[in-house]
Amino acid sequence: MDRVRIVDTTLRDGEQTAGVVFSNKEKVVIARMLDAIGVDEIEAGTPAMGGDEKEAVKAIAQSNLRAMVMAWNRPVIEDLKHSIDCGVNAVAISISTSDIHIQNKLQKTRQWVLDAVAKATDFAKSHDLYVSVNAEDGSRTDMDYLIRFARVALDAGADRIRFCDTVGVLDPFTTHRKISELRQAIPGIQIEMHTHNDFGMATANAIAGIMAGATHVGVTVNGLGERAGNAALEEVVMALKHVLNSEIVIDTTKLRRLSEYVAVASARPLPLNKAIVGANVFAHESGIHVDGALKDPRTYEAYDPAEVGLERRILIGKHSGSAAFRKKLKDAGIEPDEALMPELLNRVKKCAVELKRSLLDEEFVDLYYELVWERERMARHAG
Ligand code: MN
Repeated sequence: MDRVRIVDTTLRDGEQTAGVVFSNKEKVVIARMLDAIGVDEIEAGTPAMGGDEKEAVKAIAQSNLRAMVMAWNRPVIEDLKHSIDCGVNAVAISISTSDIHIQNKLQKTRQWVLDAVAKATDFAKSHDLYVSVNAEDGSRTDMDYLIRFARVALDAGADRIRFCDTVGVLDPFTTHRKISELRQAIPGIQIEMHTHNDFGMATANAIAGIMAGATHVGVTVNGLGERAGNAALEEVVMALKHVLNSEIVIDTTKLRRLSEYVAVASARPLPLNKAIVGANVFAHESGIHVDGALKDPRTYEAYDPAEVGLERRILIGKHSGSAAFRKKLKDAGIEPDEALMPELLNRVKKCAVELKRSLLDEEFVDLYYELVWERERMARHAG
């Protein structure tokens, strides 16, 4: 199998995050940024909702993107007609497959689900659309039934199955087993992982599915999405590159910029420690780490920060050592006086505890000059 395809659903599942609304303008900008970064597919929204939602999907479908543009649908012909109106080249047809959903939410039977999905898929294929059939709550679905569901969808012409861990209850080992079973039952099946982060394992489960042979992976920028969110685009892409050593075609240097834009558009600020794109992911303060990172960055960094559009930062604070002081002073054009280092260490610690944070570069340089002046004053008095 060649490289894993990246399916971004920031504009669909990401916008389903409670309290998040993108304007149509923002949606088009996000789609363009996703396209520029090199994702394979963009799930742009749900045309059946009508109004602005449908307009946005239409605008994105008409943006001449390299990526495939997909619209989300229930297995309902009317939904699919709305998608066709928008001019998308792909549709997701989504239906619950777990008994808990079929009985309590849909209040239908397993057979009804199979019939609905076959009919809708057949209709979409007759309009030359690429079709992903989504097994909603697939992770809690009886495996024999899930295999039957996939067979029915593929027989009706579906191009792939989206395996949804809708409530985020999988662990990586169970994920690997389930995806392996599906692939054994249906050789050559194309599977998209769609994982949620309710137990903080969305990225790990997505990667486990890929290791078991999933061909596609669904992601959102910054891990936006229902409840605790989805697997994050930036995490999955960098894990593909550096953990699995897989081929990727994403321009990772644009990841930070994309994350910043989506953070603003979603009014969800990026946490400082957000994996891959957080501002402090390449910030070092503790003495041993700074010393190592300055000697060879690979000692404390998994990859070069420039790969994701970040920079290495050395912070001066309570845990700093003299290697960081020398570096900071030299960066400020000052030749450090070694005799002052022990007292500088004391003053920096005291200052950081008082401020309860790292020192700004100006504050640190000021502490150093204070020491220089004190020594000069003492020298004059002595003289
Ligand atoms: Mn979802």
